[in-house]
Amino acid sequence: MRFLPCFLFLLLASCGPAPENVTDANAPLIDSATIDRHLAELASDRYGGRLPFSEGETLTLDYLETELQALGLSPGNGKGYRQEVPMIEIIGTSAETIEIKAKGKNLLWKLGADYMTYSDKAQEENIVTQSDMIFAGFGIVAPEYGWNDYEGLDVKGKTVVVMVNDPGYYTEDTTLFKGKEMTYYGRWDYKYAEAARQGAAACLIIHEKGAAGYPWFVVESSWSGTRLTLEEDGSPKLDLAGWITLDAARKLFATTRPDVTGWFGLATKPGFTAIPLNTQLNTWAKNELRRDKSNNIIATLPGATRPEEYIVYTAHWDHIGVGPAVNGDSIYNGALDNASGTSQLLAIAEAYTKLPEPPARTVVFLFVTAEEQGLWGSDYYVRNPIFPLAKTVANINIDGINPIGPAKDLTITGLGHSEMDDLAETEAKAQGRYVQADPEPEKGYFYRSDHFNFAKAGIPVLYATGGYEHATLGRDYAKGKQDEFVATRYHQPSDQYAPGDWPLGGAVQDGELLFKLGLGLANGEGWPKWDRGSEFYRER
Ligand SMILES: [Zn+2]
Repeated sequence: MRFLPCFLFLLLASCGPAPENVTDANAPLIDSATIDRHLAELASDRYGGRLPFSEGETLTLDYLETELQALGLSPGNGKGYRQEVPMIEIIGTSAETIEIKAKGKNLLWKLGADYMTYSDKAQEENIVTQSDMIFAGFGIVAPEYGWNDYEGLDVKGKTVVVMVNDPGYYTEDTTLFKGKEMTYYGRWDYKYAEAARQGAAACLIIHEKGAAGYPWFVVESSWSGTRLTLEEDGSPKLDLAGWITLDAARKLFATTRPDVTGWFGLATKPGFTAIPLNTQLNTWAKNELRRDKSNNIIATLPGATRPEEYIVYTAHWDHIGVGPAVNGDSIYNGALDNASGTSQLLAIAEAYTKLPEPPARTVVFLFVTAEEQGLWGSDYYVRNPIFPLAKTVANINIDGINPIGPAKDLTITGLGHSEMDDLAETEAKAQGRYVQADPEPEKGYFYRSDHFNFAKAGIPVLYATGGYEHATLGRDYAKGKQDEFVATRYHQPSDQYAPGDWPLGGAVQDGELLFKLGLGLANGEGWPKWDRGSEFYRER
């Protein structure tokens, strides 16, 4: 999820252009009461944090189906609204401690305090024994940037220890990768996949709050307990993947040589050579496996004249369920993340049903599962699309509304990838707002929600909300709210909601923008193009 905003339908109604195709030009297109109602419901304790396969999934699917049916939207998968997503549920147990064998004195790490490990292998016992550890810099192989941390390195059966993010982040050298903006190479999922391709047994990523984009407790809560993955796709997997704290890394490196800061510096320099740590990893991860099917929910408004071309809206319905209690509360309600986006999308869907006639192209409302566990629902959809990807015009994704009220900005995460930016800017201007790039591109939000799977599949995407400059209270106020959310609520039981809790003006403002943008595409004939400089560039 990410935290972004916008509101002002009052302002919009007075200064924005009259919405086309709407009977009453003064009626708000997106109803804040609708968002409030859905949000309070989906974020309530009854839904148990909406973990896939749980009772919370059953309740969520039933709720979405009932609401979409009531809106008169068509089932998106033949006669039904559900797309089954076959997955493996992994209930992982990791060693409580890890003893690192080093020359001199051994090192003892404690689970949670120093590391989080797991295995994504669909097998019950995953053991790493006497695996030589090696510091492999960022663990990146990026030919287009002339970068290869694995150059001349044989890591078969070994444990690679790597830094999070990419060299551009640390140096802020804009000629190095994308400077401060995180590339896909900076992501944990890339690093594990690359280490597995290289034949490593294990990969441990060194957590650093700024570079990762979130504090350690997010690692702890996200990588403990139950995990999900799609059925085996034949790609190589590590025996063990994990994270270690910066402090654990310091202690580890100190067993060989104490100058950790120096090592990090070296790793950011082209031509860096991996450093053997002269230590060995011995540990295990046990998996209890359960195969089950989760579900995406899909509804459509069939196009009037070109029904075989598609605009796909997405919002993930899932969150992380029940976890360790914080202040006596163990339900991770995921109100902002992403009951809010789900509710906003329901409100957008409702706005489409109020059009006097459906738009030319088909509009698809796709509520995906298992985003939190690895963007699996959207991944599965893109691998098994109900509607041909070649006929899919664009994807508009919502993951978290702006919960602080109307905004002056529309902040686009991943600005500079496609013409979707221009369309968004046109709509933003009509609302009296300006467009800006994500001010924290180092956090890699572009790779952290479902639009990413569409982008990888060649479909231009938009992932945008307001919320960095409150319409009347300004930037500092907005930043304070954001920082507070990330520090105290993000992926915590305190991400919860009761009716009326948040000013929903921002969600209305963004909802209108996303509705109009999608409607424009749905009534047009255009195919937004990729920018040449995008790593996802494709001819369309
Ligand atoms: Zn989310």
